[in-house]
Amino acid sequence: MSKYIEQIKKLVELQEIDSEMIKLKQRLVDAPRHLETLQASLDDLEGQIEQVKERLDLLNQQKDKLQKDISDDSHKVKKSKNKLMMVSNTKEYHAMMREMDNLEKLNRFREEEMTNLTEDIQVHQEKMEDLTTESASVKEELAISQSTLDSEMEKINKRINQLEKSRKKACSNVPVPILARYNFIKDRLNNPVIVSVKRGVCTGCYISIPPQSFIEIQKGEQILSCPNCQRLIFWEEHFSAES
Ligand SMILES: [Zn+2]
Repeated sequence: MSKYIEQIKKLVELQEIDSEMIKLKQRLVDAPRHLETLQASLDDLEGQIEQVKERLDLLNQQKDKLQKDISDDSHKVKKSKNKLMMVSNTKEYHAMMREMDNLEKLNRFREEEMTNLTEDIQVHQEKMEDLTTESASVKEELAISQSTLDSEMEKINKRINQLEKSRKKACSNVPVPILARYNFIKDRLNNPVIVSVKRGVCTGCYISIPPQSFIEIQKGEQILSCPNCQRLIFWEEHFSAES
């Protein structure tokens, strides 16, 4: 194996390590997002539950008050009816009848209000049950996701540690000036750093290599950069013929 091919192979090996490392580090950032989304929807549900609870408390207070008014007035009507038996004065009798009539009318009106209120309470209670069920299931999913995430993060971090060791080893095999070029590009461009040239096209930027560079790369003497994207390039056929 020529020295050139050997160096390219080592750089490609380094590239593979770096590519996996980049993917894993991105995963470390992305993985907790699902958890954050779940937490946000749980917070939202709990906010809704709080609101429905407040509304229910208010409706129940109204219902209690209405209940009391109805019972007070029907008590009054009952009392008046008893008194009515003892009234001899016609005028007083009619006055009492009118008062009883008014109270009964008022209570009929209240009964209607009570029906509406009871329906409203039922609607809110059903909503409360739905929200509670939903929030319980999100809580459960959150707990599962949390433990899955914990074990996934642990695995990823373990693998990153392994890769860091492999990277050190891979770096020590690459001549210092070439490694410096690799790292220089790595710090400035999006992954990857080293790419093959297939059918005269750089697979990093998908632009054709100028004929002069293509002739140079086929010689396989020195490590070249793509004139367009500056990534390190090697001739695919050259490389596969040797390996
Ligand atoms: Zn390129």
